Amino acid sequence: MRKSFVAGNWKMHGSLASNLGLLNAVRSGTDAGGIDVALCVPYPYLAQARSVLGGSAVAWGVQDVSEHATGAYTGEVSATMLTDFGCIYAIVGHSERRSFYGDTDTVVAAKFSAALKAGVTPILCVGETLAEREADITAAVVTRQLNAVLAVAGIGALAHAVVAYEPVWAIGTGRTASPQQAQQVHALIRARIAQEDAGVAQGVRILYGGSVKPSNAQELFGQPDIDGGLIGGASLVAADFLAICAAA
Ligand code: PGA
Repeated sequence: MRKSFVAGNWKMHGSLASNLGLLNAVRSGTDAGGIDVALCVPYPYLAQARSVLGGSAVAWGVQDVSEHATGAYTGEVSATMLTDFGCIYAIVGHSERRSFYGDTDTVVAAKFSAALKAGVTPILCVGETLAEREADITAAVVTRQLNAVLAVAGIGALAHAVVAYEPVWAIGTGRTASPQQAQQVHALIRARIAQEDAGVAQGVRILYGGSVKPSNAQELFGQPDIDGGLIGGASLVAADFLAICAAA
């Protein structure tokens, strides 16, 4: 069976001082051997995450990565740089990157491959906007986003990655997909992967993200194809994040 996974996405929040309490609380509230837990922090706090979380059951990661390995790319951070800090995960294709920073399907696929090549596990985000859901093209959008990565990285790569379904209309809005709505898309994602390789589809973890809270986590995580969550706002409050982990 798939091991549940809950990852926090801090987005552009934090300070050295405020992170300390949060990192320590998550560290001491997480037991080894249960579910997988990770915190995806802003780049400048990777060293702090390593220093506080090192040796604990909590892994750390980042929220984006360059598609390039090295070179004249001002402002970019390569996947190999991340490995210098023990970074395990990199979110790629988050809807905020896609919509505010122009990360196209092609760029996301390149970032996915760059992370994997350096040994960093990509957490690939896919999801439709409200307009796309209302136009009834959710399946087409999510399939297109997934296909772009499959075409570049190949099905074998999915065995070393995590997928997160994040309906854009549910992110930071307080509006959560119903467990049934989420399950439907998770099943579709798994079925698309199964068309390529049934074994990979069975093993790959598909997280749900979008206004996950302690009050709705259990029902979401109870769905057969939901293997955990990618948590934004609620990952900034240790008690909420730990309650969500406990529900997984
Ligand atoms: P949210 O964010 O939990 O604040 O909705 C989720 C995400 O963007 O990963």
